[in-house]
Amino acid sequence: MNRIESLLHIKETSWLTLSARLFSRTATAPWNACLPFQGQHNRDGYGVIRVTDSDGRLRQMLAHRAAFITAHGAIEDDHIVHHKCFRRDCVRVSHLQAVTHAEHGKLHAAHNKKLKRALPRYWSRKRLDEIEIVTIAELTRIGRSTNWISRAMKLDRATVRRYRRNFEQSIAA
Ligand SMILES: [Zn+2]
Ligand SMILES: [Zn+2]
Repeated sequence: MNRIESLLHIKETSWLTLSARLFSRTATAPWNACLPFQGQHNRDGYGVIRVTDSDGRLRQMLAHRAAFITAHGAIEDDHIVHHKCFRRDCVRVSHLQAVTHAEHGKLHAAHNKKLKRALPRYWSRKRLDEIEIVTIAELTRIGRSTNWISRAMKLDRATVRRYRRNFEQSIAA
């Protein structure tokens, strides 16, 4: 029942502006850094954008899938658009990769294993989810301040500080 998502299924007037609409909803980011979508997000933290399909129906599409389509034209049937950066709201096309369900499972299993090994302190706390932890680590790595991270991720500063400290300790070790 998986619907092939492609430019062909998006109304021409809509897809011509889709790319512009997508990328007007991102902050500027250094070359090849994550491009977090700043429009609407769903409950799971994925960006969502409205498109008009070829039947003229308005429907919501995940922003990263839309970004992939603007670059590649289509997502192959039964493929998942995976975030190589593991950041759900990222729409940087070079961070996206279409993979099968099986490949996707393997990618995430390998990532979780790496995370457990590299960041045991994070893992044992289990207070933030994997994505939040990776995001804090990544933002710390690119030099964002505690205040910036706390505002952007809607987390209190003490929590961000605690995870940053752990991150700095684990990369120093
Ligand atoms: Zn990214
Ligand atoms: Zn994935």
